[in-house]
Amino acid sequence: MSLSKRSWAEPFKIKMVELLKMTTPAQRQKAIKDAGYNTFLLKSEDVYIDLLTDSGTSAMSDQQWSGLMLGDEAYAGSKNFYNLEKAVHKYYGFKHLIPTHQGRGAENLLSQVLIKKGDIVPGNMYFTTTRLHQELAGGTFVDVIIDEAHDSENLFPFKGNIDLDKLTALIKKHGAKKIPYICVAVTVNMAGGQPVSMENLKALRQLTNKHGIKIMLDMTRIAENAFFIQQHEKGYAKKSVAAIVKEICSYTDGATFSGKKDALVNIGGFLAVNDQAIFEEASNLVVVYEGLHTYGGLAGRDMEAMAIGIAESVQDEHMKARIGQVQYLGDKLLEAGIPIVLPVGGHGIFIDAKRFLPHLTQDQFPAQALAAEIYTDSGVRTMERGIVSAGRNKKTGNHYYPKLELVRLTIPRRVYTQAHMDVIAESVEHVFENRKKIKGLKMIYEPKYLRFFQARFQKL
Ligand SMILES: *Cc1c(COP(=O)(O)O)cnc(C)c1O
Repeated sequence: MSLSKRSWAEPFKIKMVELLKMTTPAQRQKAIKDAGYNTFLLKSEDVYIDLLTDSGTSAMSDQQWSGLMLGDEAYAGSKNFYNLEKAVHKYYGFKHLIPTHQGRGAENLLSQVLIKKGDIVPGNMYFTTTRLHQELAGGTFVDVIIDEAHDSENLFPFKGNIDLDKLTALIKKHGAKKIPYICVAVTVNMAGGQPVSMENLKALRQLTNKHGIKIMLDMTRIAENAFFIQQHEKGYAKKSVAAIVKEICSYTDGATFSGKKDALVNIGGFLAVNDQAIFEEASNLVVVYEGLHTYGGLAGRDMEAMAIGIAESVQDEHMKARIGQVQYLGDKLLEAGIPIVLPVGGHGIFIDAKRFLPHLTQDQFPAQALAAEIYTDSGVRTMERGIVSAGRNKKTGNHYYPKLELVRLTIPRRVYTQAHMDVIAESVEHVFENRKKIKGLKMIYEPKYLRFFQARFQKL
């Protein structure tokens, strides 16, 4: 499973540290109860190691911090916008850039511009905010990821791939006119950070070209996807992550991007497209929702930090250490017999809560309960990616019952050390030893949109 026999190490040294607060078991029991057993509702202060998300939690480099001082905070035409535009051209190759406050701002613009009421939007597994924006624009999301993605024990290295037969059947059923674009996530967050292969993308480009369907990337973690292609796909071992990233983009028509993941910033995102007409409409809409088209809800300094972060994110050494750390934690948990999604993906470890807690039914929110239990054990904050995140079917009002019921241990980039990984693994092992005592939960408050963020629970 390891990437190579020789150890990797971080290609940086530490210049500043942030001290962490230690808590007692009694304090944690109270904190998680007050938070309604939802780790999103914990105070960050009460968390020891925060694996809630890799979104906006990266450590910026000295270069990025100095970039903040170069913020050109003009309302229009900020120098930093042009620097970001240069980075997007250089590393991704897209023609037009519209900055947004974060990824979902770009998803909103793209959905509003391209989706008409009654349209079908296929994708390789849903993502929470992406699907919601598609639905709000009148579209219906259809999952066309390969079946292997739903099987946490299948070792196929490209479980993010699009099932071209499923897509062909969908085109037959609805007609290509009803499908404005396919949304391709690289890597697939909800499948456990699983990559898409270049071969699959090329074949998808051929198929969609035949039908006049666009490919829009959700390229939030494209550098991580590129690293997996470099490691596992024939013909790519000698290519740089940067070259692979650019090749991925070349088979697509545009992308939404959350700078808070790969690009190593705390806030930011963009929509990038090649088509002039889409660009014009989106840059008109962005002034309604985000801000002028040369800042899109961001400060000039944020755009500067993102431009620098994009360049850092595609460095081979960075990616090797990034994925190496995730793999290290994965190997530790595997050694201890913890059921996790395999192969280990890009941005975190996903514990299979159905196999961890076989005595609970999915209605008892096993992943939610397990995340609460891990926090209580050690102050390590994880999150649910299962039935709570999946939400309800907008037509029937019933829960979606996703095959994968997961607890996500997301690793922030450049933030924690190997010793932190050891502490995390030991905590999960301890909870695993006592798993039979873990009780399910009952939902006592359910918000209407993206309920996982704010839902509250009680122990059964
Ligand atoms: C985070 C994320 C988004 C949304 O981006 P935000 O910056 O959080 O709005 C979209 N797609 C994927 C795959 C993500 O991980």
